[in-house]
Amino acid sequence: MRGETVGEELFRHRGPLLVRNVLIDQQVADICINEAGHIEAMGKGAETSLRGQDTLEIDGRGAIALPGLVNTHTHAAMTLLRGYADDMNLQEWLEQKIWPLEAHLKGDDVYWGTKLACLEMTKSGTIAFNDMYFFMKDAARAVIDSGMKAVLSYGFIDLGDEDRREREIHATEDVVNYLLGLKNPRIRPAVGPHAVYTVSDEGLRWLAEFSEVMGVAIHIHVSETEHEVQECLSKFGRRPPAYLDSCGILTPRTIAAHCCWIDKNECALLGKKGVHVSHNPQSNMKLAVNRAMPYPSLRKNNVNVTLGTDGCASNNSLDMFETMKCASLLQKFFWNSGTILPAKEALTLATSNGARALGFGPGKIAPGAPADIILIDRNGPCNTPLHNVESNVVYACNGSAVNTVICNGKVLMHHRTVPGEAGIIAGAARAAEQLLQRAFS
Ligand SMILES: [Zn+2]
Repeated sequence: MRGETVGEELFRHRGPLLVRNVLIDQQVADICINEAGHIEAMGKGAETSLRGQDTLEIDGRGAIALPGLVNTHTHAAMTLLRGYADDMNLQEWLEQKIWPLEAHLKGDDVYWGTKLACLEMTKSGTIAFNDMYFFMKDAARAVIDSGMKAVLSYGFIDLGDEDRREREIHATEDVVNYLLGLKNPRIRPAVGPHAVYTVSDEGLRWLAEFSEVMGVAIHIHVSETEHEVQECLSKFGRRPPAYLDSCGILTPRTIAAHCCWIDKNECALLGKKGVHVSHNPQSNMKLAVNRAMPYPSLRKNNVNVTLGTDGCASNNSLDMFETMKCASLLQKFFWNSGTILPAKEALTLATSNGARALGFGPGKIAPGAPADIILIDRNGPCNTPLHNVESNVVYACNGSAVNTVICNGKVLMHHRTVPGEAGIIAGAARAAEQLLQRAFS
């Protein structure tokens, strides 16, 4: 036993990795990670599977190992807008504050904003996310730098304008082809119809067909507000899920964010179509959408429910620990039952359900699975006493309890150190400042 590897070597390392003496499912075990970034073996003495190889080690004593968290709905580069406009109603917030500032965004802003998002997510135990925004080639650059996994979609908005639709179609094709061309297993492209109120019927139909031909996911906002549902009803004679289904948007490749204003029949429809749903409790509460996603009914219909933070202008944090807690509390409060969404289930939503929705493996710590593992401090205040790991993780801890993050077998953070952190903070702060200068000059 050579003891823990320290310093830069751990972050540069591209070979097998041994995590010793971590607590998994109430037992102390070792985790062996092979060169391909998969879990090779687990348990006591598992390191024999890596014998003779140049293996680095992490001392996991005092740590609980959990699957890395998966954020299934965000607009990562909106970190630059954090705290720019709060305490407003949704429509005014979007139209008066967010969209006018976004009109001044450049590729480099998205690069720095996404880098900041990746840093924040890494520091709070998230290993993969589902992103919809603009300048996605720049977002991809940031994801590649970070070592995280992401599904990236260009936010398609044509507002019923034919010329604009042509430009959006071209932009979508360009981004999807570019991302596929990277041949990076950590990056998956998707198409991103923004919502029923921002994309035309023709646009939705084209996106549905293109996603099927290319075999890529669909990322869309669905029934976030009552206003959206009423407007869709009066314009198309149907509520958003039925209308989207008629356009071919509801598929097993689809991730539908929010789904607050959906009824029992719509929960059944989403289940039948195999759609994944992303619950975004903080964003829904902050923007006062006045209804919680009907988790009990979605669950009854076997819908794969996952968790997302939404963008940093409507949350304003990317900490999935906070999201697990808020989801569980909001569901209990809104549907008036203390038994809805227990801690263990909230953790499943944030790990295996999310990983499944994004196509990044089982989201479990098991032999053969990608090594997407976080280590949290079992001796910290939030984990004392340790009556119930899931309870502490969901209700007591936040992202700062995460000590180590491993994604695809590579160490992204150890002892809360992420390489290059100061440079990312400085670069993102500068980008945010320059964005505001451009917008108001
Ligand atoms: Zn959103």
